[in-house]
Amino acid sequence: MSRIDGPVLLQTKGLCKSFGDHEVLKGIDLEVRRGEVVALIGPSGSGKTTVLRSLNGLETPDQGTLAFDGGPSVDFGQGLPKQQRFAIRDRSAMVFQHHNLFPHRTVLQNVIEGPVTVQGVSKPEAVAHAEQLLDRVGLADKRDAYPHELSGGQQQRVGIVRALALAPDLLLFDEPTSALDPELVGEVLVVMKELADEGWTMVVVTHELQFAREVADEVLFLDGGVVAERGAPAQLFTAPQNERTRRFLDRIL
Ligand code: ADP
Repeated sequence: MSRIDGPVLLQTKGLCKSFGDHEVLKGIDLEVRRGEVVALIGPSGSGKTTVLRSLNGLETPDQGTLAFDGGPSVDFGQGLPKQQRFAIRDRSAMVFQHHNLFPHRTVLQNVIEGPVTVQGVSKPEAVAHAEQLLDRVGLADKRDAYPHELSGGQQQRVGIVRALALAPDLLLFDEPTSALDPELVGEVLVVMKELADEGWTMVVVTHELQFAREVADEVLFLDGGVVAERGAPAQLFTAPQNERTRRFLDRIL
């Protein structure tokens, strides 16, 4: 049982996705409640990133359903109108492995880009919100810096602020620390932990098992395009039921 018993924000059933004849997702069921942190772990190539990208429309599953925040269930096998298909796209924000900041724009310009151009927020309002968020992650003094003037950890914190500036209902993290030098990983994980504590709803693909163990409400272990095991971290990490989970954890921990 998850410690979170809020309303279900996101539910997928039977998500399948192939690239050519490579079947990458073979029926993924996922449920995320408001305020919940769900971690996706598993070996490289098991489909974690494809799950995440399927949630916000960067990939379109071939089969399966997705329901978001009480809206109509979208059946990917049926080819529904685009706007219906991706309501979730407007209300989720993704933090990528590489921060993807615009190199020729300042930190502040990067952060206000989405709210101003996509969401139609007024510039003064977007700036005020951006400054508040930058302050929160300890980067208030970097607002006029360019991305290349920042460390990798600072860049990734700006990447997180850029996602938060969209005021999303759901934060999606795709291995946000895996491109960082080891000494920079901690500062990013601290911010993510604070967001979890503040009640943000998060789906996190991560290799940081200690983080998953401490922060996640539910952990899904993916292997070969299926959820081989799911459960509370205390259970999954200490007493995995599935042989494949056990082998994976033995290798990593
Ligand atoms: P993970 O995040 O667990 O490492 P991915 O979801 O990134 O796994 O990838 C799962 C499999 O799908 C891999 O074999 C990968 O090569 C393949 N794959 C992912 N995206 C594409 C794509 N756009 N085209 C072809 N194959 C892809």
